[in-house]
Amino acid sequence: MHSINVMKIRQIIAISLLLLPHAIWAQKLSISIFNETPLSSLLLTPTHGQYRLVMPDTAISVSANQLVYITRKGDSISVRDAQHDWGTHRRVALVGQTGHDLVRIKPIVPSLPARLYDDNMNFYVDFHRLMAINLIEQEKYVAAVVEAEAGPNRAPEFYRAQALIVRTYTYANLHRHADEGFNLCDGVHCQAYKGRSDNNRIFEATNDTRDLIIVDAQRKPIAAAFHANCGGHTANSEDVWVAAMPYLVGVPDRFCSGGRSYTWERRIPLSQWRRFLAEQGVDTLRLSAADIGFTQKTRQSHYVVQGVRIPTTKVRERFNLKSAWFNVSAHKHDVRLSGRGYGHGVGLCQEGAMAMANRGWSYERIIAHYYQDVSIVSIDELQAETEGPIVPQLPTPPDSTEPIRLF
Ligand SMILES: [Zn+2]
Ligand SMILES: [Zn+2]
Repeated sequence: MHSINVMKIRQIIAISLLLLPHAIWAQKLSISIFNETPLSSLLLTPTHGQYRLVMPDTAISVSANQLVYITRKGDSISVRDAQHDWGTHRRVALVGQTGHDLVRIKPIVPSLPARLYDDNMNFYVDFHRLMAINLIEQEKYVAAVVEAEAGPNRAPEFYRAQALIVRTYTYANLHRHADEGFNLCDGVHCQAYKGRSDNNRIFEATNDTRDLIIVDAQRKPIAAAFHANCGGHTANSEDVWVAAMPYLVGVPDRFCSGGRSYTWERRIPLSQWRRFLAEQGVDTLRLSAADIGFTQKTRQSHYVVQGVRIPTTKVRERFNLKSAWFNVSAHKHDVRLSGRGYGHGVGLCQEGAMAMANRGWSYERIIAHYYQDVSIVSIDELQAETEGPIVPQLPTPPDSTEPIRLF
């Protein structure tokens, strides 16, 4: 009897592996929370529903408002509540019993504000820290990320477009942290995830687009890049990330001109600017104000000084500019930059998309404006027409990801 069960389990595991990544999608996602923090102690408190805390040799019920302390002790974790010490264990799981279970997680060491999480948690020690993995239904996760990336009080069609972007990214990056044993982290390295969304509009927008993602002409999930404001024209992916993506081609955008990030100004001491130019190979002894001056009527990939070509993205990175679309004029003591837009400029412009949504554009039309020659399909439909797992193609380098949130 025992061996039959073991065989069955092995069969189930083997079948699940064959069905990746769709099998993962159909199950819960695993997200490492507070991933950028070396956690060593936290307090968990269920706020809704009913939980079981499962340890290797025992399981206890944890009801709403009960406090449980989880603390790293070497390679293990100690579990205790107000009455009991539940010992130390290699792995502890917090499992919701109702399907509508919510738990508050409060990091104690280091101390951080508490956040609310849906569904289940796993705790264990790895990488010399306490790992807290949230196992969450994918649509609840998508809604939470939409809130973190897009903010509150937006039009429903904008939230629908953002939900498609978040879901497409999620589906295409299920293996991003495979080596570490979970799907995605909660930082800007993957997608900002700050716990549960309480915003009904976002839940509705997510639900209305349930299972839908954006694919390119080859039916592969797209790299659904977005940014706060394009300044009136989006950028080509090859001018920002080297790789040219056929659907990430610059397009005009007259909708974001009322956005708060449409234009910007900066002054930089002339000495700093000259030092930067010297580092790039410019002969600064012979430099005139006219040499320094630069005008980008349309987006340019390079700032050219005395024949030296400097990528505008490099200038942006060095001086932490809001965008790589800027004019330069030299003055007695400083250079003055006047720029357009906020962010890398590739893909969807959030402030433009918001204005389109406010004017009655559908999310399909918004997506089609910013991404060229793409389609919206359901994951089931895509899986049915694809033999084997889908291998997404993404522009590089992923490590240069900048914060893509709006504010
Ligand atoms: Zn990540
Ligand atoms: Zn725009």
